[in-house]
Amino acid sequence: MHRKTLIELRDGLQRGDFSSVELTEHFLHRIDTRDRELNAFITVTGELALAAAREADRRRAAGQAGPLTGLPVAHKDIFCTDGVRTSCASRMLDNFIAPYDATVVERFKMAGVVMLGKTNMDEFAMGSSNETSFYGPVRNPWDPERVSGGSSGGSAAAVAARLAPAATGTDTGGSIRQPAALCGVTGLKPTYGRVSRWGMIAFASSLDQGGPIAQSAADCALLLGAMAGFDERDSTCMEQPVDDYLAALERPLDGLRIGLARPFFGEGLDAGVERRVREALAVYEGLGATLVDIDLPHVHLSVPAYYVVAPAECSSNLSRYDGVRFGYRCQDPQNLLDLYTRSRGEAFGEEVKRRIMVGTYALSAGYYDAYYLKAQKVRRLIRDDFLAAFEQVDVLMGPTTPTPAFRLGEKAADPIGMYLSDIYTIAVNLAGLPALSIPAGQVDGLPVGLQIIGNHWDEARLLNVAHRFQQETDWHRAIPADYA
Ligand code: GLN
Repeated sequence: MHRKTLIELRDGLQRGDFSSVELTEHFLHRIDTRDRELNAFITVTGELALAAAREADRRRAAGQAGPLTGLPVAHKDIFCTDGVRTSCASRMLDNFIAPYDATVVERFKMAGVVMLGKTNMDEFAMGSSNETSFYGPVRNPWDPERVSGGSSGGSAAAVAARLAPAATGTDTGGSIRQPAALCGVTGLKPTYGRVSRWGMIAFASSLDQGGPIAQSAADCALLLGAMAGFDERDSTCMEQPVDDYLAALERPLDGLRIGLARPFFGEGLDAGVERRVREALAVYEGLGATLVDIDLPHVHLSVPAYYVVAPAECSSNLSRYDGVRFGYRCQDPQNLLDLYTRSRGEAFGEEVKRRIMVGTYALSAGYYDAYYLKAQKVRRLIRDDFLAAFEQVDVLMGPTTPTPAFRLGEKAADPIGMYLSDIYTIAVNLAGLPALSIPAGQVDGLPVGLQIIGNHWDEARLLNVAHRFQQETDWHRAIPADYA
């Protein structure tokens, strides 16, 4: 059953080939026997999952099943789950049981989705390798000595190893697309404002966006249909109609204009990755698309702009963890200041502290204009570059990451090197655009991701463009030998 895509599992449930209880037991057994080596899950909610599966089977028997009813999915541990620990992979929230469901979790629940558990991630979603987690790194199912990518590394590894048919993720600067690329799965970061952020623990509020990680674009289409839509509890969630993503999948690609983002093919791009991406582009040409070179003159400023904006917003968002209201509290505080400083000092990891310090500095009096305001202006220029590009082309394509999965520990002592592994994904968040990563081949047995970027609200087209590729190739069906 674990070799099937989510769409195939949906059809199997509808035909009565298996029940949701059988399906859920199968995945729980896989997690139980195989996750020790990967560390993709922080919490497994077996009993809750079986209860939800029984309820889903009952609903189906009563003729009340929807398309997602009874399908098992894992949630990144950044989404609040009522009554279930929601740690954000931080010691700060190791003891935090969320008192409510995030909107995404609630919508899935209402659709009858079965939650298998909560997946591992970088602490507070800060990282590109899943090595900053309080619970330890997630290993890549294609090579256990390599990183899964981050920050949604647990979700990507769980789907790649078929411990879950699909999972949720969040993407602030690449955290859905980069681990999807490194683990050989499909991940979609929607337009900013497409999916509610309510109940999603905030990292950088103007960049964070939740989305699906699954085997195929069709699976992502199925999930996005349930995740997307207006939510009055998130003031940046847009009142924009949700397209029928599944209906749009089959559209032919004749005449599709693909822009090759020139800055994504420059120095630093691994030759093997570039080869796989160029082969994928040739597949698109075979489907009737034309390729156009596109300049994005300000995109080279993305990483520096992001590493001002994201830490600034995180320093503000993380000020709520003070040892008073919830989360970790130090032992025997001597006074209020001691309570604050020791609670934060003991419970935040090194990368989180680095970001809080950078962000606090960038927002401080006298530096705000020089750093934060300047970065916001650069951000506008980057957005304008993309909008100009979309006057000429329908989508942009390039690699998702400069290299395949790197070794555990390889960049851990080199924050700048780590930051640069998101060099192709970050501009998309600064511009608020949707983008996805699909498996496009391998280099030395390690997956390579093709990134497809669309204009605002163009998720249906992105999924369509990705789906047509997945009908021509079967990279998305490749399973690491140890997990087949
Ligand atoms: N790797 C980037 C960072 O560390 C992006 C993380 C994310 O998208 N959550 O900030």
